[in-house]
Amino acid sequence: MTVQKGSIDIKTENIFPIIKKFLYSDHEIFLRELVSNAVDATQKLKTLASAGKLKDELGDLTIHVEVDKKNNTLIVRDRGIGMTADEVDKYINQIAFSSAEEFVKKFKTKTEAEQNAIIGHFGLGFYSSFMVSEKVEIRTKTYKKGGKTKAVRWECDGSPEYVLEEIDDKTDRGTEVILHIDDENKDFLEDYRIKELLNKYCKFLPVPIQFGTEKVQEPVEGEKDKDGNQITREVEKPYIVNNTHPLWRKKPSEATDEDYKNFYRELYPYSMEEPLFHIHLNVDYPFNLTGILYFPKVKKDYELQRNKIQLYSNQVFVTDSVEGIVPDFLTLMHGVIDSPDIPLNVSRSYLQSDRSVKKISGYITRKVADKLAEIFKKERETFEKKWDDIKIFIEYGMISDEKFYEKAVKFALLKNTGGNYFTLDEYQKHVEKTQKDKENKLVYLYANNLDEQHAYIETAKERGYDVLLMDGVLDSHFINTLEQKLSDTSFARVDSNTIDKLINKEEEAPSKLDDKEKEKLKEAFERNIDKEKFNVLFENLSETDMPVVIMQNEFMRRMRDMEALGGGSGGMMGLGSLPETYEMVVNTNNPLLDKVLKEKSKKKQDQLIKQMYDLARLSKNLLKGKELTDFVKRSIDIIE
Ligand code: ADP
Repeated sequence: MTVQKGSIDIKTENIFPIIKKFLYSDHEIFLRELVSNAVDATQKLKTLASAGKLKDELGDLTIHVEVDKKNNTLIVRDRGIGMTADEVDKYINQIAFSSAEEFVKKFKTKTEAEQNAIIGHFGLGFYSSFMVSEKVEIRTKTYKKGGKTKAVRWECDGSPEYVLEEIDDKTDRGTEVILHIDDENKDFLEDYRIKELLNKYCKFLPVPIQFGTEKVQEPVEGEKDKDGNQITREVEKPYIVNNTHPLWRKKPSEATDEDYKNFYRELYPYSMEEPLFHIHLNVDYPFNLTGILYFPKVKKDYELQRNKIQLYSNQVFVTDSVEGIVPDFLTLMHGVIDSPDIPLNVSRSYLQSDRSVKKISGYITRKVADKLAEIFKKERETFEKKWDDIKIFIEYGMISDEKFYEKAVKFALLKNTGGNYFTLDEYQKHVEKTQKDKENKLVYLYANNLDEQHAYIETAKERGYDVLLMDGVLDSHFINTLEQKLSDTSFARVDSNTIDKLINKEEEAPSKLDDKEKEKLKEAFERNIDKEKFNVLFENLSETDMPVVIMQNEFMRRMRDMEALGGGSGGMMGLGSLPETYEMVVNTNNPLLDKVLKEKSKKKQDQLIKQMYDLARLSKNLLKGKELTDFVKRSIDIIE
């Protein structure tokens, strides 16, 4: 064979300028494409060898990536199956080119957002090297023996013209791709940049990849210093980028807890926290999926980090934005998912409607739920200990994913203010007898701030009620979900007026005041309080209960909370905000009220009422500014 010159494809337009100009957003992926090709060629060789079809020794199969700054070249070299001249013509000139062409055509019709979404994924293959090169050379020698198996060189300078010729100076099997990096992409000649990219895309490829060398400390055998410490010396060793046997590819039965923790550190070298626990995914039917998901420890001031899950296709890094591939609530988890069955060369909106993606996503949800159920069943104590940290994931899952809710309802926990944990069923039994309202519906009382609602929690407990602690970021949404799902059950915050409507209340004591006295008292109160905000009610509580307690209507409070979050419509529609209103429950049996009634001096009566009113407001954190100052002054007067 002599030099063959030809035009790759003259029928259609020249795609090279388009590759160069339009695919600028993710130039860097060319390296992943080339290294993956080298890995594929090596894997194919191994397959041939194990089938006894290889005449040569396999030898060292390490893939080399090299930068030659002087010549402006970047080289990827493998010892895989290589190609004959005919194969170069077929695979590079024809097949690869037409698929690159097809990709470019598809790409051109997409919006910019869609382009950005797909360019990071597979599609352009070998020809992506033209995004960064003015010229690309391939030097390759096939593993095959016999006629027409001489090494060949292919060269193309970014026009549809190419050169293909036999060469004598390559005797070793395998392929070498030489990129002559163009002026705009000189950063790909920097060691640090290539190292960064190899670490990003090639960290877990199944064939060793070497990039230069690194200095490491190595123990000198049998040599210790005078204190008995091992002496080490610095040696230069090949720098191998990747871990060829990542943990997720092993069988779960072959990995230890320590392995999972170490792997977490390998994935997130900068993370200070240990994961709470892991879930090892491993299926091959009806689709192929492996991976490890971690529940990360979330700090109290949670900066929830999405996009920590890495998606791989046969150990090649694809993306770390997995929305649409895993259920939304799982994007808060960490770890890796590896599946050749996830279609990669498509846009995000396509992914979301793809049936196999839906199946995979459903499977992951189920697996996560099963694992949680298992831990709950086998190690309830551990589960409870971790609950506060994992509840955000589980609540999010239950709120947003029907299927997950159905499974999680068996192990989701409620925690009360005493620090005890209950499943939903257990809790129902726990309060069934005591916390029903007049319609025979269950009422779960909860606090979302232990300090602010302290007095109310104590009162509720004194009355024999249980109070849940619902102070998580998602708890108000979670409450809504539970109210929709659980039959005849509602939630009421501990400072809401609902508590007085529970039937368990001890037999109501007879009132010490008659209607006329109450009427007088009401007038006296209304003279001294903000009538717009506070509605005076009388209740016959026990003598030792507070004289005045401020309660809030649960429904109104939730509406106001929603409005504060921007969810309500009142303010937006120009109707103004919902009014802030409370119920002021006056305990007719507290002796102080009797004292108020009997007080002859109107001035003193007012002072007493104001004091009770302010104390009630103070314990609900409603007393501020000038009113607070007045209260302090008045209190001092009273003491004097
Ligand atoms: P894909 O890898 O998706 O098939 P590419 O454009 O990357 O597409 O490569 C086209 C073809 O060229 C490959 O399928 C393979 O047959 C051949 N090829 C590319 N790189 C190598 C290599 N390093 N060794 C052997 N064959 C290769």
